[in-house]
Amino acid sequence: MNKEEIEHIRADFPILNEKIYNKDLIYFDNAATTQKPRCVVEKIEYAYFHLNANIHRGVHYLSLKATEAHEAARLIAAKFLHAEKKEEIVFTRGTTESINLVAFSFGEAFCSAGDEVVISAMEHHSNIVPWQMLCERKAMKLRVIPVSENGELDMTAYSSLLNKKTRIVSVTHVSNVLGSINPVKEIIQIAHEKNIPVLIDGAQAVPHLAVDVQELDADFYVFSGHKIYGPTGIGVLYGKEKWLNAIPPYQGGGEMISTVTFEKTTYSELPFKFEAGTPDYVGSTALAEALRYVDQIGLDKIAAYENELLRYAEQRLKEIENIHIIGTAKNKSSVLSFLVDGIHPYDIGMLLDKLGIAVRTGHHCAQPIMDVYGIPGTVRASFAFYNTKEEIDRFTEALKKVVNMLK
Ligand code: PLP
Repeated sequence: MNKEEIEHIRADFPILNEKIYNKDLIYFDNAATTQKPRCVVEKIEYAYFHLNANIHRGVHYLSLKATEAHEAARLIAAKFLHAEKKEEIVFTRGTTESINLVAFSFGEAFCSAGDEVVISAMEHHSNIVPWQMLCERKAMKLRVIPVSENGELDMTAYSSLLNKKTRIVSVTHVSNVLGSINPVKEIIQIAHEKNIPVLIDGAQAVPHLAVDVQELDADFYVFSGHKIYGPTGIGVLYGKEKWLNAIPPYQGGGEMISTVTFEKTTYSELPFKFEAGTPDYVGSTALAEALRYVDQIGLDKIAAYENELLRYAEQRLKEIENIHIIGTAKNKSSVLSFLVDGIHPYDIGMLLDKLGIAVRTGHHCAQPIMDVYGIPGTVRASFAFYNTKEEIDRFTEALKKVVNMLK
C-alpha cells in the first residue's frame, strides 16, 4: 500500500488523531484490540436509530428489518470464512465464548474418562482453560504440543501425541505472543488421518490473512469481532454442519427452542440452537460492516503491507543494544515481542506510554509460553494496516531513549 492509501485509511479511524500526554498517539496494541473505522461506529448508531427491535419473533416492520440485518451479517461472516453454509456460523460473544461452547458441547457429546485433548504450548488462556475444565469434569488428559526456541510447533511431537484416546485438537492459527503462523492445514490433515476433529483459534489470524475454512478443512474455526475492527462483545464460531448437529446446545433459553413443555423441550435448527437469548444483532450488523471494510482493502494487500511493517520494525530494533526478539518463526504475522536485558517489560511500557506510544507488556494471557521461555513477560508491539514506517521510526527513537533511562 502506498502512502496515499494509508493516509486515506487513517482518515477512517478518528481515534488515531488523539493526543496522549500532548503527543500524537501511536497505537501498537492491535493484537489486544483494534481501533474502529467510522463506518463501523456509524453502523451501530444506524442500527439503534433505524432498525432496533428484537429479532426473529416479531411480525412488525422493525423486527423484520433487524432480523434481516442479523441474518445478512451471518451470510457475510460465512463468505468471509468461505464457509459452505451460513447455518455453520454461530454468533457468540467472541473467541473465548466460542471455545467454551465447543469445549462444553463437544465434551458432552463425545468425551469420557481417559480421553485426551491436544493443544499447544503457545495457546492463549482462552484456548487452555476451557479444555482444562473439560478435562477436570470428565477425568480426561490435556496433552501439549511443544514449541521450539524460535517459536514454531514441533510437528513430529504433534504427530506422536495423537492416539486412539485423542478426541479433539485445538490450536491457534497465529500466536498472540510470538506472531508465529502455524501450519494449520497440515495440523488438520494429520489429525483427520486419525479421524480427530480440529478447532482453530483464529483470533489473531483473521485480521491479517485470508482464511478459507473449507480449504483448511477445519472442523471449528473461531474469532472475535473486536480484533478485526468490529465491535466488542461479538464473535464467531464456525462449525461444520455435521459437528454442530451432533453436539448439544451450550445454553438454554429463548430463541434456541422449537417447542417447550414441562415434560420435554425440542431444540431449534442450526444455527439458532446455539444462540440462546436475544442475540447481539447490533453487534453482528456492525461486525459485518467491519468485515466488508477489511474485504474492500483486501487481506492479501493487508498481509503484504503488515509484513513490510514487521520486517522494517525488526530491522530498526536491531539498533538497540541487548534487545532480544521473542518469536522468530519463519512464517510470522505482525506481532513483535521483545525484551531488553536487565529491564522489566512493564517499565518500558510505562515510559513508552508517556511518549504517546501504546504497547502491551506482560504475559499476554499466555503464561505457559512465558514459562517455556523462562521469562516473566515481554513488551509487545503489534501492527495494523493503519500503522506506518514513520510511527516505527518514532517508536525506535523513543525506545532508545527509554532504554537509556532505565539501564
Ligand atoms: N485467542 C487468541 C490467540 C487471542 O490473542 C485472544 C485475545 O487476545 C483470544 C483468544 C481471546 O479473545 P477474546 O478475549 O476476544 O475472547
